[in-house]
Amino acid sequence: MNYEHILIRYGELSLKGKNRKLFIQRLHENVKEKLRDVPNARIKQSRDRMFILLNGTNPDIIIEKCKDIFGIQSFSLAIKVENEEEKIKQAALFALSEAKNVKTFKVTVKRINKNYPIDSQAMNQVLGKHLLINTEDITVDVHHPDIEVHVEIRNEATYITSEKILGAGGLPVGTSGKSLLLMSGGIDSPVAGYLTMKRGVELEVIHFHSPPYTSERAKQKVIDLTQRLTSFGHQIRVHIVPFTALQQKIYREIPHGYSMTVMRRMMLRISEAVASKQGILSLTTGENLGQVASQTMESMHAINAVTNLPIIRPLITMDKAEIIRIAQQIETYDISIRPFEDCCTVFVPTAPKTRPKLEKVIQHEGFTDLTEDLETTIANIETIEIHPSSATADEFSELL
Ligand code: ATP
Ligand code: MG
Repeated sequence: MNYEHILIRYGELSLKGKNRKLFIQRLHENVKEKLRDVPNARIKQSRDRMFILLNGTNPDIIIEKCKDIFGIQSFSLAIKVENEEEKIKQAALFALSEAKNVKTFKVTVKRINKNYPIDSQAMNQVLGKHLLINTEDITVDVHHPDIEVHVEIRNEATYITSEKILGAGGLPVGTSGKSLLLMSGGIDSPVAGYLTMKRGVELEVIHFHSPPYTSERAKQKVIDLTQRLTSFGHQIRVHIVPFTALQQKIYREIPHGYSMTVMRRMMLRISEAVASKQGILSLTTGENLGQVASQTMESMHAINAVTNLPIIRPLITMDKAEIIRIAQQIETYDISIRPFEDCCTVFVPTAPKTRPKLEKVIQHEGFTDLTEDLETTIANIETIEIHPSSATADEFSELL
C-alpha cells in the first residue's frame, strides 16, 4: 500500500459564498502552474476539496511546492480505496503506521455516502478496534491525540488521511487584483510583496536605479528577489527605471534638506504613471513607521500627497525582527543582505528633513520644472518578465 493522493483543504475559501467558484478555479490554475515541472501529477477538484494524483511522483517534491501556494489552508497525504470495510481497515492501519512518534490516536469517520451500510459512529468503533488490535504501545485519546486518522467515505471512494500539513493560508494569487511593488533590493520590500500576494494580489515590480552610481549587481538583486517571489504566484513583470538624470537634477536644484522628499515624490509619480499604463490600481511599499527619515508621519504625508492611488504598506507596524523572520522564512533575506548600492542612499543628503512640511516641499518643487525629466525617464523604462522557474513551454503543455 502507498500514498497516491494529496488532499488539499481550501480553508478561508469556504467563506466566500458566490465568489467561491472563481476562487477555486484560480487555485486550480495556480496549483497546475506550480506543478508544471512535475509531469506525472494530475489535479482533480470537487466543491470542497482538491486532490493531486501523484502517479508515482515522490510526494515530498509536491509537499514542498504546496507549502508555497496561497489559498491552501492545509493538506494531507491520502490513500484512496474502494468503499469496502476490509480495504478501509487496511488503509487506516497503513496511515497510522506511517506516522512517526505516535503514542495516541483517534479515528474520525465522515460518511458522506449514505448508501454505505455502516454509519459514522459504528465505523469509528470498527476502525478504532482494528487499529488497537494491530499495533503495539499505541492507545486511543479522543481529546488530545498525537494523530487523527480521518476517513471520508464519499460516493466514488473512501479517502484516508492522517497528518495535516499546514498550508500558506491566504487567498489564491490573482483573486484580489494587481499592485505595483516598489522594490529597492533591501530586506523590507520583498517581504511587503510576499504579504500582499498572500491576500490574493498579483504583483508587478518597479525598481529605480541610478547607473553608474548603482551597479548591475544592484539590478540583479532585484531580479533575483523577484524570482523568489514568483514561487508564490506567477510570472512577474519588472519595470527598471533609469533614475540618474532626474536624481542629479533634484540634487542640484532642490535644497538638500528637501531633496530626499522630492525624490520620493518623483518615485511615486513615476510609479503611478506605470500603474496607470498597466491598469494597476494600487502601489505596495516596504515602508515601516519610524525606521528612517523618509518614514516619519510628516514625511509619509508629504510624499503620499502626489498620488491618489491606495498604497499598501503591509510592514507599517511591524518590528524589524518580525520582518527579518519572514524574510528568512521566504528565503529573500540572504539575497537582500548582499552588499549593494541603493539609488536612495547614493544621493541621500547628510541631513534630510525628518519632518518636512508639505507646503515647503511644494514651494521648492515650484522653483524647478521636472515635467520633461519625468517624461524622459518614463519613456526609457526597461521592462522584463521574470518566470517562476526554468521549466520549458513543452513541459507545460504536457499538463494542459
Ligand atoms: P527596503 O528594505 O525595502 O529597502 P527600507 O526600510 O530600507 O526598505 P527605504 O529604503 O526608506 O526603506 O525605502 C522605503 C520603501 O521605498 C522601500 O521599502 C521600497 O518600497 C521603496 N523604495 C526605496 N528605494 C527604492 C528603489 N530604489 N526602487 C524601488 N523602490 C524603492
Ligand atoms: Mg532600503
